[in-house]
Amino acid sequence: FLPHLMAALEQVDETYIMVKPDGVQRGLVGEIISRFEKKGFKLTGLKLFQCPKDLAEEHYKDLNAKPFFPKLIEYITSGPVVCMAWEGVGVVASARKLIGSTNPLQAEPGTIRGDLAVQTGRNVVHGSDSPENGKREIALWFKEGEICQWTPAQEPWLRE
Ligand code: GDP
Ligand code: MG
Repeated sequence: FLPHLMAALEQVDETYIMVKPDGVQRGLVGEIISRFEKKGFKLTGLKLFQCPKDLAEEHYKDLNAKPFFPKLIEYITSGPVVCMAWEGVGVVASARKLIGSTNPLQAEPGTIRGDLAVQTGRNVVHGSDSPENGKREIALWFKEGEICQWTPAQEPWLRE
């Protein structure tokens, strides 16, 4: 029983992180990738990509009844984005913490949005909100063969 419980707690998750068009235009790509890289998560997918409208609509389908939905789709398709897949124990919740609140004015200093943005409609980065959505979004944004399975040399220095 206990080993099973421990294994469940140690479950490796994946999350979809995206530098939005404002982050790319403002030259924040390296800074944003660095936050996740330095934390110790594993990068498994990375590309610069011009998002088509139908993909943006599918990605944000849960928000399609919101008044800001058309503006959101216009924003996400307004220029290239940087798509990333990150893997690790607890990566989904941890990435949300590193990103900070949706409204950058309410995001804590030290978070990406808290440090680098001022408005909800220009909040520079996306992160999946659950392990299920992490899987769904990575499958949506990446093709087979674009995700790399590899073992970082630093792994034994990150986890005992
Ligand atoms: P997130 O998970 O923190 O990114 O927030 P949500 O899933 O609630 O919303 C998705 C994205 O829609 C946000 O990151 C914003 O870019 C955008 N958004 C959410 N609420 C608003 C709003 O009230 N106005 C505008 N313009 N955009 C919004
Ligand atoms: Mg969300």
